[in-house]
Amino acid sequence: MNNEAKHEESFEFQAEIKKLLNILSHSLYTHKEVFLRELISNASDALTKMKFYSLTNTDYEGKDLPLEINIDCDEKNKTLTISDTGIGMTKDDIVRNIGTIAKSGSLEFIANLSEQAKKDSNIIGQFGVGFYSVFMVADEVRIRTKSYNKNEPAFEWHSDGTGKYFLNPIEKEKRGTEIIVHLKDEEKEYTEKTRIQSIIKKYSNFVSFPIMAGGEMTNQITAIWKEPKKNITEEQYNEFYKFISNTEESPLFHLHTSAEAPIQFSSILYCPPTNHEIYGFKKLENGLQFYSNKILIQSDCKILMPEYLRFVHGVVDSADIPLNISRETFQDNRIIHKIKSVLLKQVLTLLQDMAKNEKDKYETFWRQFGRILKEGMHFDFENRDALAQLMRFNSSTCKDSNGLTSLNEYADRMKPDQKEIYYITAVNRETMEKGPYLEIFRRKDVEVLYLTDPNDEFLLTGLQEFEKKPLRSADQANLDLLKDSDKKIVDTSAEPQNYEETFKHLLKTIRVTLADRVLDVKESHRLVDSPCCLVNPDGVPSVHVQKLIQMVDSNYKISKKIMEINRKHRMIQNLARMNENPSYQPLIEKILNQLFENALMQDGVVFDPTSMAPRLNELIEELTKATLGEGKKIII
Ligand code: ADP
Ligand code: MG
Repeated sequence: MNNEAKHEESFEFQAEIKKLLNILSHSLYTHKEVFLRELISNASDALTKMKFYSLTNTDYEGKDLPLEINIDCDEKNKTLTISDTGIGMTKDDIVRNIGTIAKSGSLEFIANLSEQAKKDSNIIGQFGVGFYSVFMVADEVRIRTKSYNKNEPAFEWHSDGTGKYFLNPIEKEKRGTEIIVHLKDEEKEYTEKTRIQSIIKKYSNFVSFPIMAGGEMTNQITAIWKEPKKNITEEQYNEFYKFISNTEESPLFHLHTSAEAPIQFSSILYCPPTNHEIYGFKKLENGLQFYSNKILIQSDCKILMPEYLRFVHGVVDSADIPLNISRETFQDNRIIHKIKSVLLKQVLTLLQDMAKNEKDKYETFWRQFGRILKEGMHFDFENRDALAQLMRFNSSTCKDSNGLTSLNEYADRMKPDQKEIYYITAVNRETMEKGPYLEIFRRKDVEVLYLTDPNDEFLLTGLQEFEKKPLRSADQANLDLLKDSDKKIVDTSAEPQNYEETFKHLLKTIRVTLADRVLDVKESHRLVDSPCCLVNPDGVPSVHVQKLIQMVDSNYKISKKIMEINRKHRMIQNLARMNENPSYQPLIEKILNQLFENALMQDGVVFDPTSMAPRLNELIEELTKATLGEGKKIII
């Protein structure tokens, strides 16, 4: 037994990691080369921490070491070594950072991804499984590391990436970390210097420390946000985005700002091309980094953007912020708040310009990030009007359910005498168009916004009006649109004799029969083809919104509605006649309850089938009898 082996301790990987390693070693990704990007990014993080520490401290290991990354290829031994002079790791750091997945849920995300998404190498960096990606190409990895803390001994970690890892105390002279990757036979290409250099150029060009590959400086190290806009090409902007976002996709757009007064700052903000929240990932992490004169002082800088713009990535640099600012004082810093409000205005203006001048691009943006942007309508009252103009909805003027329109466009299309903006909420466009509420709108050729997300109704009720025009739900009892409807719709000449009276009598019967189930019963001025429908008194939200409330508050009862009756409908006219004969009352009662429940269903309430099915059977029995001439005949 040699000396090292005596001290060797062995550890089991956390179960989550074992699963992850198993997925990774069976080649999850199509571009395995990204493992290098991950290792370099970790080295760069460790160097940033070192640089930062050295600004305010003097007593640490390896004071005179240059901050850099070295990469060496050894074709003979099939190894690739990535060394850095960063902060290094103590034994505890290794166990905590390399032996466990810190970001809980990372594995779940990966396990739930579709096969296609698993091949997408962007996933790697985003969920903190960066280091393990090395096992896509390695059959053994050694980490040799020495902490910046003078009292900590150096350690070596090694593992073949299956179930266990081992730790040994070692002698190591230099501060920092060395990752020795022993390549699998089929991955020999990563020992070629030119291959390594091209990977570095592709993914790690903007790392702000020198990367030496085979003794040659390989990256650029420019703070492009400090350069004048005219010097930067579109491609450089894209490259920089890919670098800071750890992705291979190009951004949807960027925003480069430099301000001198009253505050000096420069920034490049990006909008990613896809919203990963849509695919069921956790809430997006804010991807903003804050620099003070090119030195990173805070990554994941949430305070700089409101929640509803959390998808924005980028860098902000201001020399007016001291390097040693703490997280807490950063939050309260007056200059930070100023920068934040300038950036917010700029993002909103950029979106507005895009919505106006690059419609297709804006729609692409909206389909990805609209659902996040909408949150601003509830929280950012100061910018609510600007945000309202950025909202998009489907509407009755769109060709199909993919179409989008803005409130401005709706307002432009309004009829000269139209005073209100209308919307309706239901599960899908088909349900809305087949339901009773839109009959009058179609007849009058008035546009209705189609909301399939009940949150949109919340949003519009919160807004109350747009350009001084009230926003109204199409299922409300008193709409401006209905004011003169009766004249146009009801042709009394075609009605049965004495109908005025028998219809009134029928309304009374319905009121009595459904007394416990409806608020009131009224003649309808909106129905064309349907016999009846349920409408909400003013100010009561739709059933869909009420259901949302119910999810939060289980004591909440869905409110009763007003039942509107279409006096022109043949069935209603027949019922009015039957209603004059007392012997039909039991049958009428059944019919009215059934009509009510039909209307409920059309309103989106799924009704308990246990009471409905027997009633329907009884009604069908009556129908069959009547067809065979065995039912009661009406005698008036
Ligand atoms: P992430 O970088 O997202 O935290 P990784 O799996 O890439 O996830 O790395 C895990 C952790 O291991 C890092 O957060 C860091 O604490 C530690 N680590 C990895 N590489 C190094 C390194 N070269 N120097 C110091 N610490 C490192
Ligand atoms: Mg990493």
